[in-house]
Order: sequence, then C-alpha cells, then structure tokens
Amino acid sequence: METGIRLDFLGELRRTHTCGELRKAHAGQRALLMGWVHRRRDLGAVIFIHLRDRDGVTQVVFHAGMDPAVHERAEMLRSEYVIAVEGTVTERSADTINPNIETGQVEVVAEKLWILNESRTPPFPMEETVDVSEDARLKYRFVDLRRPHMQRNILLRSRVSFATREFLYSQGFHEIETPFMTRSTPEGARDFLVPSRLQPGSFYALPQSPQLFKQLLMISGFEKYFQIVRCFRDEDLRADRQPEFTQIDLEMSFPQQERIFEVIEPLLQRVCREAGYDIQIPFPRLTYAEAMRSYGIDKPDRRVPPMRQVNDLLPELTQHDLPLMALHLPRVGALSRKERDDLKAFGMERGLRVFDDAKRLERDYPEAMARVRERAGAQEDDLLLLATWAGAPTGHRPEETVYQACGQLRLHAAQKYNDRHQLLDPRRFEFLWVVDFPMFEWDEEENRWVAAHHPFTSVHDEDLDKLTTDPARCRAKSYDVVLNGVELGSGSIRIHRRDVQSKVFSALGFSPEEARMRFGFLLDALEYGAPPHGGIALGLDRLVMILAGETSIRDVIPFPKTAKGTDLMCDAPSPVPERNLRDLGIALRKTT
Ligand code: ASP
Repeated sequence: METGIRLDFLGELRRTHTCGELRKAHAGQRALLMGWVHRRRDLGAVIFIHLRDRDGVTQVVFHAGMDPAVHERAEMLRSEYVIAVEGTVTERSADTINPNIETGQVEVVAEKLWILNESRTPPFPMEETVDVSEDARLKYRFVDLRRPHMQRNILLRSRVSFATREFLYSQGFHEIETPFMTRSTPEGARDFLVPSRLQPGSFYALPQSPQLFKQLLMISGFEKYFQIVRCFRDEDLRADRQPEFTQIDLEMSFPQQERIFEVIEPLLQRVCREAGYDIQIPFPRLTYAEAMRSYGIDKPDRRVPPMRQVNDLLPELTQHDLPLMALHLPRVGALSRKERDDLKAFGMERGLRVFDDAKRLERDYPEAMARVRERAGAQEDDLLLLATWAGAPTGHRPEETVYQACGQLRLHAAQKYNDRHQLLDPRRFEFLWVVDFPMFEWDEEENRWVAAHHPFTSVHDEDLDKLTTDPARCRAKSYDVVLNGVELGSGSIRIHRRDVQSKVFSALGFSPEEARMRFGFLLDALEYGAPPHGGIALGLDRLVMILAGETSIRDVIPFPKTAKGTDLMCDAPSPVPERNLRDLGIALRKTT
C-alpha cells in the first residue's frame, strides 16, 4: 500500500491506559493510548477519533488550535489505522457525554500523535450490527475477529477454558496430553489420515477423540485426567459441524456414573457463571426410554412441554398396539385450516396419522378428551394434537419409531409457533442428564448392530447375559448431558475387564483376529490390572456458542472452516507439489 504517509516507530512508547479504562476520576491526568481508528469525524477545526483496543473505545480530540503539525497528521487518519496518542484526559460537558461507551464521560485531548501503521479500507465495517456475508467474514477473518461481538465470543471462550482448568484442578484432575498422530479410534466417523514418509504406505490417523489414551491413563494409575483437546472427524459436514473441534475430555478411576455427574454439574455451573448465568444443580435425570417416550428424542428440549401417551384413554384410535401421543403447546390459540394442514402434512411425511382437529375429537370423545387435556396439562387456549403411526410397525424398536416421528412434529410445531408461546428463549437454560442408553443400534446399511456410544462402553450389570441373546434390549452405562435440545456431552462407564470387552467386540461382529488387530494394545492393557473407570467429553464449541447466545459454532471458533471443510483464509486444503507426494510414496488417481 502506497499512501506516502510517513510512519512512526513504536520506539520506547508505552501505554498508560487501555481504551476501556478512563473515567471521570482520571480527568486532568495524562494518558498515552494505542489502538485502531474505529471511527473518525472531521469537522475541520476539530477531528474526533474513536480509538479502539481490546478493552473498549475512547474518544480522542485533535484541535487545530493546539499543534497544527499534529492536526495535519490527524487529517490523514482513516479507518483501522494503528496509532498512539498522548494527551490530557478531559471531562466532557453534560451535553456531549456519550452513554453508549463506558468511557463516555471523558475524552483525551491529543497533544501528540504517532501513526504506527496504515490500513486498506476494511472489506466490511467493524460494526456488529452490519450484516456481512459469511464468505467475506471467513476470508478476512483477521478483520472479522476485530468486531466487538467476535472479540467478546473469543474472550468468553478463553475464560471458559480457564475456569474449566481451574475447577478441574481444584477437584484433583491433571491435564495430560495425548498424541495427535495415532491409530484410528472409533467414534463413528471417518479418520483423517496422515501419510508416513519413513514408512511409505503406512498412515497415522488423527484422533476422533483421546478415548483409548484416557482409558490407558487410568490403567497407568493417574486416576483423574482431563484435557481441553482438539478432535478430528472426517464427516460429511451436516449443518453446524467442523472437521476439527474441541472437547473438554475427562476420565476418572473407580467412579459410578453419579461421581461423574458430581464433577460435571458444578463445572457447568461455574462455566455458566462466567457468562453471567446462574443455573440450578443437580440436573434432572431421565432414562433414554423416558426421554423417547416423553420427547421422542434422546436430547430433549425441556423448555417445551413433554408429550403424553394416551392409548389407555382412547383405545378407539390405537392401531397395532403402537403409541398414541398427545402433543401440547401453550398459548398458541386456534390454528387456521392451512396451519393445521401443514402440521398434518409434516407428520404424514414421517409416517404419522395426525388428529389435528381437537374440537372434533372433543365432540366425538368428550370424556376421554377431557382426560387427555388433563394429562397433557393443556388449557383451553393451547394447541393440542394427537398423533399415531399410520401404517404397520417398523424398526427394531417399533414404538421408538413412533415416538421419534411425534418428537419431530413436536419440535416443528414448537419452532413454528414460538412467537406465540415464546418458550424457546435462548437465555433460559434447561439442562438434564439422559441415562441408560441402549447398548446397540441397528445399522441398516451394514445390516448389523453397532455400538450406540462406542465399543468400550460398559453394559448394565444385569444386562450382561443379554449381550448376545437380546442385543436390542441391552442397556449401556452411558449418559449424555443435554441443554435446550443440544447434546453438550456424552460419556460412559467403560469396560475394564478383558473378557467383557471381548464379548462386546464379538456382539459387534468383530472377529477375534480383527479385534486383536485394531485394539490389541487395549486388550493387552486390560490384562494388567485395569481399574473400573469412566468419563465424559463435553463439546467446548457448542457450550461457548450457547453461552455467547450465538447460533453457529463458527462464531466461537477463531479460525473455522466452511461447510465444505475449506479454510477460505489460508485456502486449505490445497494440492501439494509432486515431489512431496513422491517422498510419501503416493501417486494420485485421476478422479473423473
Ligand atoms: N470419547 C467420547 C466422545 O468423544 C466421550 C467419552 O466417552 O468420554 O464422544
């Protein structure tokens, strides 16, 4: 950039205050501030600059009558120039006080100015209220991160990490690192692979989580481990995922699941306080079966009332013994024909028969419907829908298929009519634990059972015998912590016995050879005095996103990737020179 402006050196200049610090009490003092030109107003004889640094904004005034040379230099200033100014802190007259900035009662009357760097016109203004395309924000991330809300988010994230460390250390945990270049850890995604130059044809995998290492650390006797750690999963990026993301990962020896909850609840309480929220602990606990029955999902949003099963009240509407559910939303009032048709169509697409006309049901079944209303807790003015399965039972747990579809209808209606019931308030926090997940899920594509959590999760003691005979009904010692419909974290009590681990591998369809090949080191370690152990991992990005009141994790990650996994700023991933590939023994196949 060639503007011809002479730039000054920083030399030995030193700030006396930050741009967020000065108050009325400082009036009369000298101040030397440094920062960026946030805004400028040139009235000829007087130039006003809003000077910004990490801490805030202070108004600086250049009077032509003071030092004409300084005033002349001040005329050259533009948005985002980096400057230092020295002058006297002066109280503003009552009519010029700016209530919008914390330093608004004073201004600095400049006597000296150093222009430390100039700036091209930024691609978008620094105001957070200005809507900027996501691509522009990601390409010029270094500028985007200067905007006040991004500064707030990233600093909140830093405070959350710090509070986490402080709290966990106070509970006897130690932060221990685990490798990034390792072998595959199954968490249900694809691995990112790193080719080895020294062993051509072999690859490291980036960890999907430190799962096996944290278990090994328990076997090594560290008892309480944690790590704020990056995890890597090569998934088709649905909605709001990132190929690399951060977990608060921990593991303990000799715990029951309640011992884990006793750590996580006050940790979340502490972290929420960091963002100005007071939350109640302990959190309610719901079994997976109850969550499915009441919310049709394993991550219930408890801000919206639960569904109720009403087969016993209206046996006439029951088919194939499948659930008949009452869904209820307060204060929605009467729906138009079109609105009712929309709900019906939404349900139908998911296999449901929706009884959208509560009035008619009330005419046909007055007594039963009065009791349905009572069970659902529905008032006169509330929306009340009944839904059941339209066809023959499907799935390995058919009642679950119905609950799920009803749960989707419930959320769809809740979102659609939020302006009427206003329950989905992002500042209302409804935490809960979901416990007793099923051990296995049926994978339609692979036509076999897969681990619902991961293959190192313990089965319930009393379900151990059902591992091979009735996998659909085996419950796992696993748990999720859920906030407002978002899964914040999940964990489990692990298998610590070699014989049980082998049984679970075989229930999952691994041959002994395959299990040995993939997890031989774990099986070996389980033979050397592995203590009972368990743990959990919380998604830091999601947690900070909710605390910051954002709706995308990209707004709380300093340098995120796009939905296609691209870093628009550094243009990664990118092709590499042929000779690098040759060193790695890699030849690219032509993709057509
Ligand atoms: N490794 C698990 C995950 O990343 C968490 C855990 O079981 O601790 O989801």
